[in-house]
Amino acid sequence: MEASDVAGDLENILLTEEQLGARLDEIAAQIDRDYAGKDLLLVGVLKGAVMVMADLARRLRSHVEMDWMAVSSYGSGTKSSGVVRILKDLDADLTGRNVLIVEDIIDSGLTLSWLLSNLRSRGPASVEIAAMLRKPDAAKTEVDVRYVGFDIPNEFVVGYGLDYAEKYRNLPFVGTLAPHVYSS
Ligand code: 5GP
Ligand code: MG
Ligand code: MG
Repeated sequence: MEASDVAGDLENILLTEEQLGARLDEIAAQIDRDYAGKDLLLVGVLKGAVMVMADLARRLRSHVEMDWMAVSSYGSGTKSSGVVRILKDLDADLTGRNVLIVEDIIDSGLTLSWLLSNLRSRGPASVEIAAMLRKPDAAKTEVDVRYVGFDIPNEFVVGYGLDYAEKYRNLPFVGTLAPHVYSS
């Protein structure tokens, strides 16, 4: 592996591309069953959910629409505050729609619990959540997540949409960064 190779910055691979794909096969089949005969609007949360949205949506056999929202949950610090700002709102009107929020990761759960009540206030028929990753030990608030890819340890991970300083989103797998990345 070349020194410039982005994967060389990783210490440990937690989930391979194959593992992520196999789990998405199962989740997509479950979503197809659960929403059979219903309209479905997938709402991806930018930017982290781009990979899971693309990989999940292309596995679904039903008609779906895709829309996007961008929110900022972090104030000046690095910890989720629960204070959320909408940077880009949805194009779609949610009235009477079945909405499935597609998320990269649930850490404290604060962003998602805010998002859930915000979308529920718009008159949808239903709102559920699909998250590729969840850190159960980091939960600060209980969020009812219908579809979870993997529960992972309470460590900072990158890849598969998740960034460190906007990098590593393009990795097709999930891993932890080597210490030299933080110290350089
Ligand atoms: P929460 O509000 O659940 O604490 O965090 C929400 C957002 O924080 C996630 O959507 C994600 O963008 C970011 N985040 C939380 N944990 C991690 C992590 O381990 N790695 C990365 N790269 N981002 C994370
Ligand atoms: Mg996210
Ligand atoms: Mg980030």
